[in-house]
Amino acid sequence: MATDRSTVLQTLTDVDLWDVVVIGGGATGLGVAIEAASRGYQTLLLEQADLAQATSSRSTKLVHGGVRYLKQGNISLVLEALKERGLLLQNAPHLVHNRAFVVPNYDWWEGPFYGVGLKLYDILAGRQGFGRSKLLSRKKTREMLPTLESDGLVGGVVYYDGQFDDSRMAINMAQTAVEQGATVLNYCRVEGLLKTNDVVSGVLARDAETNQEYSISARTVINATGVFTDTVRRMDALEARPMITASQGVHIVLDRSFLPGDTAIMVPKTDDGRVLFAIPWRDRLIVGTTDTPVDEVTLEPIPKDEEIDFLLTHAGRYLVSDPTPADVKSVFAGLRPLVGSGGGDDTAAVSRDHTLHISSAGLVTITGGKWTTYRKMAEETVDQAATLADLEERPSVTKQLSLHGYHQQADTFGPLAPYGSDAPRIQALMKERPALAEPLHPERRVRALRSSGRHVTRWRGPSRTCSPVARGRCYWMRKPVWRWPRASQRCWPTSWAIAPTGRRSR
Ligand SMILES: Cc1cc2nc3c(=O)[nH]c(=O)nc-3n(C[C@H](O)[C@H](O)[C@H](O)COP(=O)(O)OP(=O)(O)OC[C@H]3O[C@@H](n4cnc5c(N)ncnc54)[C@H](O)[C@@H]3O)c2cc1C
Repeated sequence: MATDRSTVLQTLTDVDLWDVVVIGGGATGLGVAIEAASRGYQTLLLEQADLAQATSSRSTKLVHGGVRYLKQGNISLVLEALKERGLLLQNAPHLVHNRAFVVPNYDWWEGPFYGVGLKLYDILAGRQGFGRSKLLSRKKTREMLPTLESDGLVGGVVYYDGQFDDSRMAINMAQTAVEQGATVLNYCRVEGLLKTNDVVSGVLARDAETNQEYSISARTVINATGVFTDTVRRMDALEARPMITASQGVHIVLDRSFLPGDTAIMVPKTDDGRVLFAIPWRDRLIVGTTDTPVDEVTLEPIPKDEEIDFLLTHAGRYLVSDPTPADVKSVFAGLRPLVGSGGGDDTAAVSRDHTLHISSAGLVTITGGKWTTYRKMAEETVDQAATLADLEERPSVTKQLSLHGYHQQADTFGPLAPYGSDAPRIQALMKERPALAEPLHPERRVRALRSSGRHVTRWRGPSRTCSPVARGRCYWMRKPVWRWPRASQRCWPTSWAIAPTGRRSR
């Protein structure tokens, strides 16, 4: 396994023909890279920025079936997500945790109403359930949520779901992909598609460090670029109809004193029909999210004042002390790649199902969905892509594949728990060089495991941006930039429509 960027770049020149080239290093692309590499296909993933720099590091950090999709009647989506939630806990127990959520009830009918819905959620989860939901008395609700607004409180319903570290998960997925034989390269943007006889036969990519262009041939090219999906589709066909509507979701980060304890709050219906969460996240509290249609997609979406106001207002309704703008420690915004909203304003009502699309030139596009369902999305995508490219048929093994860092008792590593099986090596490094364990900032529990030296998880290189991934990782260490360490001729019918296994959003 190569361990430096120049070797990886050399691989781009050395390999004549890749089986699979994946564009995009978010949850979806990384999942596809793991899926393809673990089946033994020679796989390359190219990411234009940091891994998971876009949507995949700005989620609510829930591994969930999606209680609110039950309300939409999308049972199949919930069922699939609950299955994947169980697999994620099984394969990445160092990053996925059980979290109790309470739906507070201020009307007599809410207890039975939400109680029944959440019982259905339990039933759908079956043996992979995270805990049984139950009705709570007013007293018990207050015990679990001491800072919950008690005026008019009748009781609550507690249910259980998964919480995870999204940006860390992305890094561990990239490591897993490489361990399975994939080549993963960030800061390398795909700028065009190669075609042979009108069929996609590779990509043109540019290394951001050297500005060198690479012409990379592939049996199949998979577009996993989230909200940038249509940009890549237009590289294939200028006239391609837009598939994606972007919807912005904002979270604010507050001090934990607003909601001490381990229980999260779930508000099933805000003024405009959204779901709102207030969730303990390490020594902070995350409150989110919003659902605002946006016209422009960018790597660094900007939260709107009204979105922050909305979150503060609603948090204030449920918490004893009302948070003010001065209490907001930070804000992060992400763009949901929603398929098929028809340009309407109400993106909250658009399905979160994923869509798999194959163009007439053979470009495979996978988009939509959720973090939680990335594995299933990847499995379906590689099944389709392998058939399309006439790759040898090989079964998926990812249901049983542990992610890098897998550790069943990671909690014993304290603040280093998210590093899982890498934690002992980090501890050794901190012991060997105590300066690395120094806080980077007096008010933050950020350690100075500096990126200038070699890093236990194989990154090196200077810090260059402060992406959300970096911010996520900065929690414990200064951002190590992902610099890997290592690393036609087809014929098919001219018109491919939506692939049979891809579910379309309604
Ligand atoms: C506010 C919010 C909260 C959410 N909360 C949850 C949650 O709690 N649980 C859950 O399961 N899901 C959640 N989701 C959904 C989940 O985050 C997304 O479904 C998922 O992250 C999408 O991943 P992706 O890889 O498709 O897209 P992205 O993460 O956006 O990745 C696409 C990547 O492609 C790269 N790219 C684009 N163009 C090119 C190019 N030309 N060359 C190379 N690279 C390129 C981009 O830089 C980007 O890194 C949430 C989403 C939002 C917005």
